[in-house]
Amino acid sequence: MKDDRTLTAFLEGQVTKENILFAEPMSKHTSFKIGGPARIFVRVPSSEALRACLRYLGQTGQEYFILGKGSNLLVGDRGYNGVILQMTDELCDIQVDGQRIIAGAGASLPLVTQEAAKAGLSGLEFAAGIPGSLGGAIVMNAGAYDGEMKQVVENVTVYDRMGEEMNLDNATMEFGYRTSIIKDRPFAVSRVTMKLTPSDPRKIRDQMEEYNRRRREKQPLEYPSAGSTFKRPEGHFAGKLIMDAGLRGLRVGDAQVSEKHCGFIVNIGNASAEDVKELMEEVQERVRKQLGVRLEPEVICLGDF
Ligand SMILES: Cc1cc2nc3c(=O)[nH]c(=O)nc-3n(C[C@H](O)[C@H](O)[C@H](O)COP(=O)(O)OP(=O)(O)OC[C@H]3O[C@@H](n4cnc5c(N)ncnc54)[C@H](O)[C@@H]3O)c2cc1C
Repeated sequence: MKDDRTLTAFLEGQVTKENILFAEPMSKHTSFKIGGPARIFVRVPSSEALRACLRYLGQTGQEYFILGKGSNLLVGDRGYNGVILQMTDELCDIQVDGQRIIAGAGASLPLVTQEAAKAGLSGLEFAAGIPGSLGGAIVMNAGAYDGEMKQVVENVTVYDRMGEEMNLDNATMEFGYRTSIIKDRPFAVSRVTMKLTPSDPRKIRDQMEEYNRRRREKQPLEYPSAGSTFKRPEGHFAGKLIMDAGLRGLRVGDAQVSEKHCGFIVNIGNASAEDVKELMEEVQERVRKQLGVRLEPEVICLGDF
């Protein structure tokens, strides 16, 4: 395709050839281990390259998607006919500066929490077992155990569709339950400053270990999933509603409502995106009919199903 030749020539000026992948299976990049091929998958190593890519894609009107660690994502079996951008190298670095942590959006969130613990900085313990990137956690305002990213974020550097830089403070981020101003906008988070509180590193580590122990006990971590499938409806818990509707263990193909925690749909073998989507719809329909509550997906769907 002529379009792709021009795009590829541009990308080769920004990143090395090995970092441009064609028809890359998204099942390799999602915690569900599901998803067809991305037309072009680019690993972007620096802020400059990221800005240039966004500017080019914006100016040429091409569809793109910023991928974190793919831990809240269901990609269709027919893949994604656009450009996937994933941050690497400089965009994953983590620095500690007094009470602050300044890190690239591609950094692993569990790794950021480890660095905080090492530096004796408290406030991110809740995030120790959330398997995403820092950028994904900002976009989703990830949270657990009464903590959420909103509580620690001071400043977020973002690039818009034309690669223009913006620095957004906590209030401007409009953090809400599993959402922020970035969700549903074509912006890329590149860097995050978090302000934490000095504390005893051992106490921080013990708290993180306790939260991780609770996760291992309650969550089906032995199977691929994207975490909680649905958002918590006001006044309810999605997992409890699904259990009360008698849907524990319900299957479509190899997609299953987890036996261990009904709030998770798990891939128990070779589930397709279609299986997961069908199961999600079945669960929504039966919970609505039996209990009168609408479940809204937390998992983000991408591409062609
Ligand atoms: C076992 C398990 C447990 C989980 N537990 C929790 C939990 O306790 N709490 C919780 O909140 N979540 C939980 N999750 C869900 C998931 O880990 C979080 O939503 C996480 O924040 C997603 O980050 P990610 O990097 O994987 O994002 P992705 O899944 O890659 O993407 C999610 C969204 O963020 C966007 N995005 C990612 N990075 C950027 C960026 N740099 N710039 C702009 N947009 C970006 C994507 O475009 C997409 O819209 C869990 C998931 C699993 C598999």
